[in-house]
Amino acid sequence: MKITQIDCHVLLDPGYDVGATSSSQDDIVVEIHTDEGVTGIGETDVNPWIARSCIQAPGTHTMGLGLAQMLIGQDPMQVEALWEKLYVGSAMNGRRGAVIHAIGALDMALHDLRGKALGKPCYELLGGAVRKSITPYASLQPEVSSFVAYRRSIVDWALRAKGLGFRAAKVEVTPCGPYAHQGLKASHEEMTEVIGEVRNAIGPEVTLMVDVQYAFPDAATCLKAIRPWVDFNLFFVETPLPSDDLDGYARLSSEQPIPIAAGEWLATRFEFLDLMDRGKVSVVQPDVGRVGGFTEAKRVCNLAEQRKLTIVPHLWKSGISIAAAAHLAATTASCAFIEFLPDELCESSLRRELVSNELKMINGEIALPKRPGLGVDLNREALERFKREASAAVSTLSIC
Ligand SMILES: [Mg+2]
Repeated sequence: MKITQIDCHVLLDPGYDVGATSSSQDDIVVEIHTDEGVTGIGETDVNPWIARSCIQAPGTHTMGLGLAQMLIGQDPMQVEALWEKLYVGSAMNGRRGAVIHAIGALDMALHDLRGKALGKPCYELLGGAVRKSITPYASLQPEVSSFVAYRRSIVDWALRAKGLGFRAAKVEVTPCGPYAHQGLKASHEEMTEVIGEVRNAIGPEVTLMVDVQYAFPDAATCLKAIRPWVDFNLFFVETPLPSDDLDGYARLSSEQPIPIAAGEWLATRFEFLDLMDRGKVSVVQPDVGRVGGFTEAKRVCNLAEQRKLTIVPHLWKSGISIAAAAHLAATTASCAFIEFLPDELCESSLRRELVSNELKMINGEIALPKRPGLGVDLNREALERFKREASAAVSTLSIC
């Protein structure tokens, strides 16, 4: 079998807002085609126009090649060897960042393709299932433009998530810092109050996580702000500090008891080794697309398990990423939960409509996928609609 063509679909939700925090309002989906008619799909969480360029751009020398250029004509079944080929052949431009995130979409698609060709779910080809089902947590981020409205919405959404059957929920509490949603402003004391209100509303039986999305400038500020949160029995606090402040992360883990989680943006096992061994986090959050695909995500999980750390994969995209995280969790014993944007509690129609048969949570669990590959299909009508939206928006966005 040979790879004959790679399609890159850049997608945009019609309700997009350049002041919004959520990255579920755009997407890149890749489709890898072969001469035998088997295809694979993948996606990644990075600026989709940049990812498309990483894939489609040509290169003129041995370690500055384009990703599609290296894949066309290759045997798609040699997935791990192709990862090395892409990593080495793009090293002068890549090794980290957008090029690795783009490799992640391609590697995801190659795993999907190989699973379909062999008639097996991805997790069976990643070492086999180690659990009977996967536990998702509901990720909650109402897109409102005042803290008063946010406070009302987040408590309501947490209750609705509990009502839908989720056993765990994560509230995005980001009224300050560089990733704050447009219009949201609140003090650290008000952050504490809102987390307390959510905990009181959902009761002690629901696992609760908090994501502050890089809200605190340094460890000293963070330590002071989150000290009262010990009373809320949090499973973790996610990304409290800027990504590169690894010494600050280590200080948080050594000077207070709440588990610290990070890793959503990282690329390759090498960045995770720094996060684990220097940053001393308790919970690692590889995003299958961003980290470099299943091939690299599995390596990260193995390294985390050697260190007896908890794994909770990040995802903020469509049903493709939900499926990818579910397959990774199916084959990873230390994976406690996977992130999950519930259809009912997500503003992005792109997130809700792109996949026609996404994995569903029933009674708090996602059953092991049975179909070959990722086991999900693109909704072609929605794909074309979101592509048109992205094409139409380019001139407006370029002016911004
Ligand atoms: Mg996050």
